[in-house]
Amino acid sequence: MTRWEAIRNGSILFYRFADPPWGEIPHGFLTRRGGVSAPPFASLNLSHSVGDDPAAVAENLRRAFAAAGLRPEETVTAWLVHGNRVLVVDARHGGAALKGVDGLITAERGLALFMRFADCIPVLLADPDLPAVGLVHVGWRGLAAGILESALEAFERHLGRGPSALHAALGPGIGGCCYAVGPEVIEALGPRLGPALLLRRRNGAWHLDLPEAVRLHLRRLGVPAVITAGICTACHTGLWFSHRAEHGRTGRFGVWIRNP
Ligand SMILES: [Zn+2]
Repeated sequence: MTRWEAIRNGSILFYRFADPPWGEIPHGFLTRRGGVSAPPFASLNLSHSVGDDPAAVAENLRRAFAAAGLRPEETVTAWLVHGNRVLVVDARHGGAALKGVDGLITAERGLALFMRFADCIPVLLADPDLPAVGLVHVGWRGLAAGILESALEAFERHLGRGPSALHAALGPGIGGCCYAVGPEVIEALGPRLGPALLLRRRNGAWHLDLPEAVRLHLRRLGVPAVITAGICTACHTGLWFSHRAEHGRTGRFGVWIRNP
């Protein structure tokens, strides 16, 4: 059983898996608490692209990186686009924000990967033996476009490590309880997920269990073990930003993993 634990560092609160099967790989899921942004971005919004005050976001990033023990020049981030592009990065990318990328992978010792979320599923990938780590942003569009396949192919092609060498972990994201979806989502995902497209009828709408669909799809692609936080962002807007629950007017929380 994997435990999920809260860490407080100054004003900042984040969570992590306490005893993950991959061993000692630094990672964390920052909550929305402990920052300086005003509503609807209160308070630890880490995104410059949602309309928040740039000075507040800069202060939030400074606090978040300090609490997480991340150095900006040894961290790689991405401008997410809900696509299927995955890049393998190394020390030369330290400090970069890469455009049009939804997955990052590195085998560089000490390099951290960082992304921002508000409902999409943060997927951590870890190969403790090489070692190497990955961070993938998975919403329904990325899932339909093959982002998980791209990430696993990149591990295999560039690092020579197949899915059986990897551990995966899913952070907080929107759950089946809160994720009503339209026919375009069902049509896009059906061919790729097949029986893993878990739909439930609730209050007259189809609900997609996105985390469970991601977990089952990773298992089907050959990743032997997938652990999950089991936390719905839309159910817990006191701790997490939720694009759906807050009608698009909200911030983004941070997720990181660092190659040991
Ligand atoms: Zn929910």
